[in-house]
Amino acid sequence: MACISSFNIIKDRFTVFLEENGHRKTPERYAILEQIYKSEEHLNVDTLFSKMIEENYRVSRATLYNTLDILIESRLVRRHQFGDNVAYYEKSFFDGKHDHIIMTDTGEVLEFSDPMVQEIKKTIEEVFDVSIDTHSLYFYATKNEKSDNE
Ligand SMILES: [Zn+2]
Repeated sequence: MACISSFNIIKDRFTVFLEENGHRKTPERYAILEQIYKSEEHLNVDTLFSKMIEENYRVSRATLYNTLDILIESRLVRRHQFGDNVAYYEKSFFDGKHDHIIMTDTGEVLEFSDPMVQEIKKTIEEVFDVSIDTHSLYFYATKNEKSDNE
């Protein structure tokens, strides 16, 4: 998490979103949001569930799934599918907007941030006269074997 005051901005956005969409403002929903913003890694439902238990939050899996759907809809959280059939979640603010490389041999997920991606977006927006809201970019890769002359 960047800092307390920046998390308050996120909380406020979530509050507005919940109110505008007629969702209840339960403490569990805010706790789940906070947990995702505190985490530096990609979380799946299982890891998120155990983190909630560690912090003595008794949430059901149904609540977790339901809240995650709301968080995705509010655009405060991003969902990823990294090759296996598991969904991963991460914050979409204050994380320096990155993209992912999925290592298909090891299952490892690498993050990168390249200004070229922003350039491409700008060009596409101009050429097609559109505004890009979000994007998803995944590279699927395998590690190069060490060559002898290295
Ligand atoms: Zn990521």
